[in-house]
Amino acid sequence: MKIMFVFAHPDDESFSSGGTIAELAKKGHEIALITATKGEKGELGDPPITTKANLGKTREQELRKAARILGIRSVEFLGFIDGTLKNYVKDLKKKILVILIKETPDIIVTFDRYGGSNHPDHIAISNVTTTSFREYMKRSKKRVCLYHTAVPRSYLRKYEKTNLSYTAFGKMRGTPDSNITTIVDIKKTYPVKVRALQCHKTQKKDVDRFLKRVSYVDLKREFFELICENSLI
Ligand SMILES: [Zn+2]
Repeated sequence: MKIMFVFAHPDDESFSSGGTIAELAKKGHEIALITATKGEKGELGDPPITTKANLGKTREQELRKAARILGIRSVEFLGFIDGTLKNYVKDLKKKILVILIKETPDIIVTFDRYGGSNHPDHIAISNVTTTSFREYMKRSKKRVCLYHTAVPRSYLRKYEKTNLSYTAFGKMRGTPDSNITTIVDIKKTYPVKVRALQCHKTQKKDVDRFLKRVSYVDLKREFFELICENSLI
C-alpha cells in the first residue's frame, strides 16, 4: 500500500506518527511524506546550532535524516513559509490535490482538526488535506481512507499538572478517547521513533519534553481517528 503523511513542519511526522511510519515501512508499505514548510520560524536549538537565516536549510536536513531512519521513501516540501499557511489555503489545497491525484495513495494521514497543538499551520494543513482528500476520494476508483493523528484526552490529563504539556498555542484539546479508531502498537519501532526525533536537533527542547512524558503515559502506542473512507461504495 502507498501511505501518505501530510504535515506542516519538519518534526511533525516523528512526534505524531514516527513509530507507525517505521512499522508500516518495515512491513514493506511505501511511505511518502509531504511537508508544507521547512519550519523556518522554529527554535534554533538549545544551545543554538544554526542561524535564523539557515534554519530552513538545517531543518530540511534534519527531516531528511529522520525520514531515512523511519524508512520514508519520498519527502516532498511544498515550499510554503512557516507560520503563513492560513494565508495560502487555496494554493495549498490545489497543490495537495494535484499530488493525491498523481500519487494515488491508499491511505492519507494528517493532523486532527485542531492541529494537535492548535498551531495555526497544523490546523490549516489538516483542513486543506481533509478537503483535498474528499475530492480525491470522489475521483478514486479504489479504496482510499483518511486518518487524523490523535492525542488521547486521557493522555493530556495525565501530564497537564506537570511541566510536560505543550501550551505554546493554548491548551491542547486532544481527541476524546472514544473517537479513537486505531491504536498502533509501536513497541518494536519506539527506539526508531526516538532516533528520528533526535535528528531534529534544533527542536531538542520539544523532543526532550515529549520523551519525559514516558513517566506518565505509554509512549509505545500511537493513536489515529479514521475520518473518511469509501469502502462502502
Ligand atoms: Zn509543526
